[in-house]
Amino acid sequence: MTAASDRPARRLLLVHAHPDDESIGNGATMARYAAEGAAVTLVTCTLGEGGEVIPPELAELTADRTDTLGEYRIGELTAAMGELGVTDVRFLGGPGRYRDSGMMGLPENDRPDCFWQAPLDEAAAHLVAVVRELRPQVLVTYDEQGGYGHPDHVKAHQVAMRAHELAADPAWRPELGPAWRIAKVYWNRMPRSVIEAGLAATAAAAPFPGVAVPADVPGVVPDELVSTVLDGAAYAGVKAAAMAAHATQITVSGAYFALSNDLGQPLVATEYYQLVRGEPGPELPETDLFAGLGLEAHR
Ligand SMILES: [Zn+2]
Repeated sequence: MTAASDRPARRLLLVHAHPDDESIGNGATMARYAAEGAAVTLVTCTLGEGGEVIPPELAELTADRTDTLGEYRIGELTAAMGELGVTDVRFLGGPGRYRDSGMMGLPENDRPDCFWQAPLDEAAAHLVAVVRELRPQVLVTYDEQGGYGHPDHVKAHQVAMRAHELAADPAWRPELGPAWRIAKVYWNRMPRSVIEAGLAATAAAAPFPGVAVPADVPGVVPDELVSTVLDGAAYAGVKAAAMAAHATQITVSGAYFALSNDLGQPLVATEYYQLVRGEPGPELPETDLFAGLGLEAHR
């Protein structure tokens, strides 16, 4: 365990469902805080074993063939984090502890080893241990719909919110470490006006055969729900490189990208959040996830 005095003053924890979600949603944020010397920890809940594979030469990795995609995606995630400068990456309960549940409604949702089937407090306990070890002031995850309804994203939301609650309760599993209350919790957001403009630009540039619609994009909300705007312009290049490192899942083309559905989307370097727990900083929208925190009090 790290002594309190050795910890970086600012500590950020992000909880995601699959390798690639972090780079798409928070790549610039992670790169910025890592560059500024904050502790940035990513917890990914599954290996993404159920994903499709874009490059034809890697098609044998899929679950219905050799079922080695999860292992392969650990390597992609490692490369992506290298681009972002993030060194603390963990899988919930260890690599492969929870399997990708597949899209909602698929038979994979019923596999006993999948994340969707995991008992909530059992899964949350793994995250409570991380929270109590690292003592982050800020937690970033998805909304109740997991941004767009994938069961692993919904479950990641549930586990993150439950761990936030349990980690702060000194009576709950004290053997996992001293209680810690995370001061601020954010959900990933995409303002509707931003994505609409971005998709119009994507349609005009036509970098891919088709164009996504707002419903394809996680976390789209009315602009007024956004509390926090992280200007990622300085990190747009490393965000794009991190996304490109997830080559089985993402194709990057200039200022655009596509998932395996080949529908173009804008590669948005500025990242948006909604504060859902804790007090906002003095000015809205916030431009810093740590705004308003008296960090000495949160050592
Ligand atoms: Zn995902």
